[in-house]
Amino acid sequence: MDTNKVQILICPLCGGDSRSTWNEAGYYAFRCKRCGVVFSESRNNTFLYDKNYFYRWYIRSAQKRKRYLKKILKKIERKYTKLPEGNYLDVGCGAGIFLDIAKQNHWKAVGVDISPAALAYCRQKKFNVIQGHLSELSLPSGYFDVVVLFDVIAHIENPVDYLKEIKRVIRDDGLVIIKTPKHPSRLFYIARLFKFTRKSRVLLHIPAQIFHFEETSLQKFCFMNGFNVVCIFTLDDIPGFFLKKSPVYMLLFFLQAFLKIFCGRNSMVAVCQKKI
Ligand SMILES: [Zn+2]
Repeated sequence: MDTNKVQILICPLCGGDSRSTWNEAGYYAFRCKRCGVVFSESRNNTFLYDKNYFYRWYIRSAQKRKRYLKKILKKIERKYTKLPEGNYLDVGCGAGIFLDIAKQNHWKAVGVDISPAALAYCRQKKFNVIQGHLSELSLPSGYFDVVVLFDVIAHIENPVDYLKEIKRVIRDDGLVIIKTPKHPSRLFYIARLFKFTRKSRVLLHIPAQIFHFEETSLQKFCFMNGFNVVCIFTLDDIPGFFLKKSPVYMLLFFLQAFLKIFCGRNSMVAVCQKKI
């Protein structure tokens, strides 16, 4: 990619101009001057989500992740509202951690994902799942009471299309729950300081992560696409070392603790309501 092209990249979320904020070894990130989101170059990442990925990061640690997700749902109920019994849609359901919780709560839940490996596992567990991109599935309009996206929105190439489709399939006062990493400007500053390592992209989850939000940019993104954020809070993700015991992840555990001092909590949850 040449420098001229970098200067004129348009934000995929709002169409605003952007400026380069980080680059390393052929990878780039741009900050939108209008909505504040940072976006990376979109690459075909679907090959990352194979059987091994879901086993290593989700199936093996399913119980830990389930407890973590339950805490998030409880926090939403404490801070905002009791989650309704009704029809749930889990976008990017992966290995079905949320679908398992939904089943226990007697909620009717459908999961969608693009990964055949993840869905094969979900079907073994008798979860109701559909393979494909949300916008191609023709789900019924106004049907769902709650739509959840846990660590999904930052990884998809066309989040605007996804939110538009969610607006169509959700009922008028339905809720959307979005959990995504929180990547503040300071994190990009630190990544620039560590460019000499040629591994600073690990801090930014690039190339797996395409969009990097903070509270304000996430709120703007939801508002621009027909949703009001009615509740937003930050939280810590489960450290990688608790999911995969290895010296590298032990090192990353200390790195995360260090980053928390400068950048605060590394994840956030927004509860949104459809604008009528
Ligand atoms: Zn923008």
